[in-house]
Amino acid sequence: MVGAAWSQAPGSAGMGARSRLLADTLPELRAGRSSYGHCCSPASGTGAPQGAAMRASGRFGKRIFSVRGKRNRRRWRFLPRSASLGARRSRGSPGAAELELELELELELAPPRGCAAAARPCPVRSGAELNGASGEMVPELEKATVRIKHPEHVMGIIRSIKEQGMSKLQVISDFDMTLSRFGCNGRRCPTSHNILDNSHVVSEDGKKKLKDLLHYYYPIEIDPDRTLEEKRPLMVEWWSRAHDLLSQQKILKGDIAQIVRESDVMLRDGFNELFDQLHEYDVPLFIFSAGVGDILEEIIRQANVFHPNVNVVSNYMDFDDNGVLKCFKGPLIHTYNKNNTVLQGTEYFQQLSTRTSIILLGDSMGDLTMADGVPSVENILKVGFLNDKVEEQRGKYLDAYDIVLESDETLDVVNGILRYILIET
Ligand SMILES: [Mg+2]
Repeated sequence: MVGAAWSQAPGSAGMGARSRLLADTLPELRAGRSSYGHCCSPASGTGAPQGAAMRASGRFGKRIFSVRGKRNRRRWRFLPRSASLGARRSRGSPGAAELELELELELELAPPRGCAAAARPCPVRSGAELNGASGEMVPELEKATVRIKHPEHVMGIIRSIKEQGMSKLQVISDFDMTLSRFGCNGRRCPTSHNILDNSHVVSEDGKKKLKDLLHYYYPIEIDPDRTLEEKRPLMVEWWSRAHDLLSQQKILKGDIAQIVRESDVMLRDGFNELFDQLHEYDVPLFIFSAGVGDILEEIIRQANVFHPNVNVVSNYMDFDDNGVLKCFKGPLIHTYNKNNTVLQGTEYFQQLSTRTSIILLGDSMGDLTMADGVPSVENILKVGFLNDKVEEQRGKYLDAYDIVLESDETLDVVNGILRYILIET
């Protein structure tokens, strides 16, 4: 975060002065907010305060989008995330109206285009470097959160999906931390299991036992030194023990809506556009989740986006005649069995066998197999949200996912791709 205050001397060359400002503040500039002031006066031809504001806005608007600077002897680009310009105060004599404008910029530090100044070639291209044709196709791919190992391959898949048309398309998505947010204002958002675990319907003793399970099994789930074969039985053990504990809590079916309402769960920014766009163009959205189906359905219902094209396969609760939770229905879905082994009975994919273009959305390695049950896949685009331990996991995610979105709490990129495929000619 940096706040830099600066006023240009009336009539001086704007760009040069702005460049100096950026050069001075570059060491502190990170993703964050910066602000500085720009003075306009009749001497620089701005005229009345209202006119000055308008003119300055236009000039700034153009300049903002080409802000550049040097850092560590390399040229870096600063991508604007938002900008606002407003009049702060006028000063000076009424005859020489001088208006001070305040410009607020939210910037993201982006690697230089083409890594031209790098000592060795850049192995992975950031979205910011995907300029040219791809940027024109899907401008959102230029966001600084985007990482792509093989850009040409990715653009080829997107083009091919568009050529095949929307009647061939389906979207297969994980739910927790993919459609729902990972965090907000520095705080973690809950998964569908967490929502239940942390709710008032679970006793303190139950909460403690669920936490103990988490502390024991979660390190196993993410342990890079264990194979999937080792992890699978342990995940079944974890899910089964957690579901047994929850089933002892006398949870009422009628409490689910309130539990969700009282939780901190949030869908990613742009969820409305995603759900509504897929609904409008009749593209099936298949949500494949190792979470709790009753909870996640309630989340999307409360968000008013549970459209008829949405189909969910997840762990569902089984209630007795009095509406009290007695157990969870099978088959059990955990992080590492999200594939056709649990989908065989659902017939979902068979019904959609003509939908041979797939956009897959996930946030873990276990989500990569979600489309394995689709009979004849022609095009598949895998988009992965890398939410946590970004530096550590970047290489692994880039190898596995076509597009990696780093700490991006929005669905902007997915919506941009869909807009290109579904709408633009
Ligand atoms: Mg997930």
